[in-house]
Amino acid sequence: LTTFEPPRVVIAVDLDYFYAQCEEVRDPSIKGKPVVVCVFSGRTEESGAVSTANYVARSLGVNSGIPITLAKRILHENSSAVFLPMDIEYYRIVSDRIMGILRSKSEKFEQTSVDEAYLDVTSKTQGNYDAAEMLGKEIKQEILSLEKMTCTVGIGKNKLMAKMAVDSKKPDGLNVIVPDQVQRFMNPLQVGKLFGIGPKTEEKLRTIGVNTVAELAQADPNTLTNIFGKHLGPTLKEMASGEDNSPVVERPIEQFSRIITLKKNAEAFDFAEDLQPLSSDLSRKLVSSRLACKSIGIIAITNQLKIKTRSKTITTPTQSREEILKIVEELFSHFFEEEKLAGSFKIRRVGIRITDLTPTTIQKVRTLEDYV
Ligand SMILES: [Mg+2]
Repeated sequence: LTTFEPPRVVIAVDLDYFYAQCEEVRDPSIKGKPVVVCVFSGRTEESGAVSTANYVARSLGVNSGIPITLAKRILHENSSAVFLPMDIEYYRIVSDRIMGILRSKSEKFEQTSVDEAYLDVTSKTQGNYDAAEMLGKEIKQEILSLEKMTCTVGIGKNKLMAKMAVDSKKPDGLNVIVPDQVQRFMNPLQVGKLFGIGPKTEEKLRTIGVNTVAELAQADPNTLTNIFGKHLGPTLKEMASGEDNSPVVERPIEQFSRIITLKKNAEAFDFAEDLQPLSSDLSRKLVSSRLACKSIGIIAITNQLKIKTRSKTITTPTQSREEILKIVEELFSHFFEEEKLAGSFKIRRVGIRITDLTPTTIQKVRTLEDYV
């Protein structure tokens, strides 16, 4: 007796030039201009590196990792160029919302970074690549209409092929590599184009005459094992054949946090209202991730950039925004009372961090209102 096993279908989603696109969405007036998101090291006003550039800036030669001073020199005649400091908390909020959309599309979901995720849609599509393509279009459309953001979707027979499909169609692409086109797609590629192969590995492969993926697929297994070891050697050969058995599994989430900058520096707890959207966000995040938290903490960043925290552990895990807010208000009240004794200070940014996350079921949710 044999049971029908549908062919595996994996979707990879990669949000395009993510940090810079977040900035374009926040301020649409900068769209079309070169946008450069910078990590300022703080040593001098301009020291630091480029984190992400949009495609306008990339077309002019500004790439991730180059010094900010070099990026400024490249764009010095371009008066419309926009340089912005990285705002990771904001990008995480956008990312969390989008990951929530993606998570709802398949039971097998794995977020691999702030802007990348995999979905195993084998059972959802019954192994049908046309159905997967429809789903890919739906995902792109939904992210565009809800978040005004473009992404690239790749579909393949495993995570490797889905990722390869994405990487060859950025930005705003949709690329399907059906199983019987894997070799045709892979063979002509330079080995450096294989996901996970860095410049050092590429260099070593070139020394043994392996330049293309086809040459790697046909390379002598013993030679590969001698150079790269028992593990990596055979893996390289498998990758060159488009093979990858790694499952799509959700990684355990350890914490969620939200931070905001106050409209004016605070010397007392007079910003309770500003915390409401944060606790609502976190509560929604818990619900969409099917998690509840047992520990609730506050983050306070002073005008001298000192980070102060407090937290409280509760007996029954919660998803409730009211309960989170109540504890946060308690913690901030105590915090200001205690800190007053220690001397004068001002708080510039505040946040909520929830940890001790446990999987939950619908029944554990306290009120229907928590979903609103
Ligand atoms: Mg990306």
